[in-house]
This record gives sequence, structure tokens and C-alpha cells, in this order.
Amino acid sequence: MTAIEVGKAPNFIRRIIEDDLRNGTHGGRVHTRFPPEPNGYLHLGHAKSICLNFGLAAEFKGKCNLRFDDTNPETEEVEYVESIEEDVRWLGFDWEDRLYFASDYFDQLYGYAVDLIRQGKAYVDSLSGDQIREYRGTLTEPGRDSPYRKRSVEENLALFERMRNGEFADGEHVLRAKIDMQSPNINMRDPVLYRIRHATHHRTGDKWCIYPLYDFTHCLSDAIEHITHSICTLEFEDHRPLYDWCLDNLNTPSRPRQYEFARLNLDYTVLSKRRLIELVSAGHVKGWDDPRMPTLSGIRRRGHTPEAIRDFCERIGVTKADTRIDLGVLENCVREHLGQAAMRVMGVLDPLRVVIENYDSGRTEDLSAPNHPQRPELGGRTLPFCNEIYIEREDFMEDPPKGFFRLAPGCEVRLRYAYLITCRDVVRDASGKVAELRCTFDPATRGGDAPDGRKVKGTLHWVSARHALTAEVRLYDRLFSVPDPDAGGGDWRANLNPHSVTVLDRCRVEPSLSHARPEARFQFERLGYFCADRRDWSPDRPVFNRTVTLRDTWAKKANR
Ligand code: ATP
Ligand code: MG
Repeated sequence: MTAIEVGKAPNFIRRIIEDDLRNGTHGGRVHTRFPPEPNGYLHLGHAKSICLNFGLAAEFKGKCNLRFDDTNPETEEVEYVESIEEDVRWLGFDWEDRLYFASDYFDQLYGYAVDLIRQGKAYVDSLSGDQIREYRGTLTEPGRDSPYRKRSVEENLALFERMRNGEFADGEHVLRAKIDMQSPNINMRDPVLYRIRHATHHRTGDKWCIYPLYDFTHCLSDAIEHITHSICTLEFEDHRPLYDWCLDNLNTPSRPRQYEFARLNLDYTVLSKRRLIELVSAGHVKGWDDPRMPTLSGIRRRGHTPEAIRDFCERIGVTKADTRIDLGVLENCVREHLGQAAMRVMGVLDPLRVVIENYDSGRTEDLSAPNHPQRPELGGRTLPFCNEIYIEREDFMEDPPKGFFRLAPGCEVRLRYAYLITCRDVVRDASGKVAELRCTFDPATRGGDAPDGRKVKGTLHWVSARHALTAEVRLYDRLFSVPDPDAGGGDWRANLNPHSVTVLDRCRVEPSLSHARPEARFQFERLGYFCADRRDWSPDRPVFNRTVTLRDTWAKKANR
């Protein structure tokens, strides 16, 4: 997909809310919620939903709740709850005092279920899971009524209570809504509302052994919280009649409406929690916050900023059409943000030693450099300079092609913020590899300008060999080598990119970086944006993650 123009992209939900406000629906209120299930870490798809829900609430002076949809005790964990709260906050959103858990409503939900039974609109079914599936029919065949569908209200009430009391084993009975086994919408063929699970819940412990299903829980939680616009992804479109059925048949404190939008799909990655869990548990990556992961904690560690992610979510828009977005769109957002926000520094990834022969070997001088060439208010720093420096190995060529404006024998280049130097000699090691360059400098060019106005095209980054810190730099590439790892029906794991990370452990960076804080982000001049690793950073051993290169190198590859 091509890059999206800056500005507000389509958002049909915004228009719906504007209409509702105009017509006084929901009493002029806007109240949304972000409802994650705590069974994994949040990813970029969730960011889209978070920005949408919290963003719309803020835009229309409404409220947005954070609600954990925690109805599956077997897959949910406190670790996930904590990481989700941290990630939503990091993205820049605030649920204030509105942190809720669907499990807080288990008593009320039980009451609503009893109400449906009393009305003859729910019954306890004793078919097995397989039988229920078989009776349900298919898209082309209607379903059949369960033989237990005609149980009396009294019998249902008694059985449901005994289910709650733990008198039955998992799977022995379920509670189902009594709707229509012939409905063309399979979700309306007497959907299961409650199932028995003898499992300890991360919040309610062993208080419950029956748990409500998503479709029953979600609409009622929305109603209890007075949600006005319940925004979810397209796969729930066919569930909307059930959402409405529950609310239409129960006396709830409010009447929310559900709206669906297309989920975010990103090229060269996967966003399904099942897949992400497997990447972590099978060791394809080093944890949920591995900088190659599309999780919020992963891209945070990689160096992405909340500002860039929010900008990305705004640019991709909200539609009903499924699209795949190129990761390059996100990378451009982070380039744009860091371009104005990140301090400039110098670091050399693949160092080549340069000795400046006519510079006094006992001398060190402090040169000054701005932290951001376009933003003088960000101040400056000093760069120590001496007779031994490092430059990037690829900035030297012994036999350069035409148009190579970097260093070569006999050529003159500018060292950024320092001097003009000329290469005089090449020193090799025993294997014949270039080990060192011998150069001379022009003392009249301090700061990098020649007083006689002679032209020097190339400008190189460099660090003082005697003062530089040795750093580890981790370069990341895409986690998968094909745009849609799940396409084609093959094994998605076979599409993992075996070269998704390269660790360089002999990089040299300027000494000012010894004061960098974990998670600080920098532009390494000419190389890209880098972030001090929040886990592994230490002042004696700086570790940087490359967030993005300065240009979209993938777009170039595609054009070739
Ligand atoms: P997965 O399908 O990866 O298991 P999920 O939808 O089950 O994810 P939830 O925790 O239930 O994950 O999601 C919380 C909210 O985030 C839901 O409203 C869901 O619709 C939304 N969401 C999840 N994935 C995406 C996505 N890729 N794009 C947009 N919204 C998403
Ligand atoms: Mg879900």
C-alpha cells in the first residue's frame, strides 16, 4: 500500500457519533471502552483500537473505560493485566478512575441469566459439546432443537443453580439462550451463555465454577458501564444481533450500540495473539518485548514513540474494508517524530582507525556540536578530538567509483564539526585487510570549513578513538521475509526471517552518551535513529537498538 497523506483519514465512527450528538441519542453523551482480554500483550492492532476509543472520547469530551474482558480463567494472567495497563498509559491515555473487570460483574451477570430463564428465554442444555455443534447445523443447513430445549423454567432454575454450586463436572451442562435454531445467523441458534469450568480465576479465585461467554458478558458489561458506542472489530458484525437480543430482552441500566471497523493487518508481521504467544514460547524471539515484536512493549523497546504510534493510527484511518498496511507507514511516522525530537550524536558501527599524522599526539581539543541543527534551543555538547579517530569502514574505498564522495587515497573529506582531512596512506594487516588509514588535517579548517572556499563534497561522522565508548548495537530487520506470513496455507513459521537481528558489539560512540538514560532516543548522524535499550543498558556497556534507518531502504529495494 502506498504511503498515506498526512491529515485526517476516513473515520465513519466519528460521523456516527456526530449524528448521535446532533440527535440527542444517548442523552448527548459519548462513552467508549477499550476491552482487552488479559491473555497476551497488546500489539499494534490494539493500538488502533485504543487510539480510536480513547481518542473519540477525548475529541467529544466523553469518557473511555479500560475494561478487562476476563471470562476465560484458563488463559488469563495477572502479568498480562499489568502489562496492558502499562502499555495503555505509555501510549498516552488515561482511564482515570474507570478501571473495570468483567469479573466484577459476575454476580450481576448471573442475575441477568436467571432473569432470562424466568422469562423462558434461556435453558440448561445437557448435550455434549460435540452434540451441540452437530445440532447447530451449518451455513447451508438449519439447526435442530436440543431435546432439553423444552425443560420447564423451574427445572432450568434448579439446574442452573446446581451448576453454580459446583455439582457438575466441566461440560456436563451449559446454559443457552432460547432464540431460533433455524436462524440464518448461526450466532442466533441458541448460543451458549454459560459453561462450567472448574478453574481458578486470577481475580475471583474459586468463587465461581461457571463462567459467562463473551457475547453475553460484553453487551451487559457495556450496559452496566453506560457505554454509548461499543466499538469492535469486523468479526463481531455477525454477533451484533445477539448483542442486541440480550439488551432487548433484559432490563439493563443503559442501551449501548455496537459498531464494527476493520482490524489492522501489518505486512511482514503477525498480529494474532496466538501467533505472538507461540513466537515467545517457542523461542523465535527473546520475550514479549523483543524489539522485533509488533507488541507495544516490543516497539517501545525498539525506540518507537507514543507520538509516532498515535500519528500512525490517525493516518491509517478507520474503515470497514480489510487492508494490509506496510510497516513502512509506521516507520515513516517514527522518522518524522524523531527527526524533530531526537538529539543528534555520532557513533561508528564498523570502526576503521584513522591516525592524523600532523596532529600533536599529546593534544586533545574540545570541539562543539549542536544537539539538533534545526533546534538551537536544544543546546550543544563538546566532542573531544585527537590524533586517533574512528570512521565508518564503508566510508573508505581504496579504488572508488566515480561519484564516491567519501574517503579514498589522496582525497579530502570533512569530519563533521571538526576538520578537513586528506588520506595519505593505507596500512594493512597480515591478511591484507585495511587496518588503518594515515591522514593529515588542515589546521585552518576547524569546525569543518575551508577559509579559501575550496569544495569538499563528503562529510563523515567520526569519534575520537581515545575517548569513544565501546557499545553494542542491535540492528533489526523485519521478523518475516514475506508480506503476509499466514498466506498460502503453509507453515507461517517457515516465513520467519533468519536475519531479523544483527548484533554489532564493537561499535564506538561519542563519550557524551555515557550519560544517556535507558530508553533515550538519538539520531546517530548519517545512520538512523537508535534507542538506549531499556533492559540491557548500563553506563559501562551501552546497548542501543536501531529503531529505523534514516530513509526507507525497503521502498528503495521494491523500486529496483
Ligand atoms: P487476537 O485476535 O489477536 O487474539 P483479540 O481481538 O482477541 O486479539 P482482545 O484482547 O479481545 O484481542 O482485543 C481487545 C480489543 O482490541 C478488541 O476490541 C479488539 O477488537 C481490538 N483489536 C484486537 N486486534 C485488533 C487489530 N488487529 N486491529 C484493531 N483492533 C484490534
Ligand atoms: Mg477477543
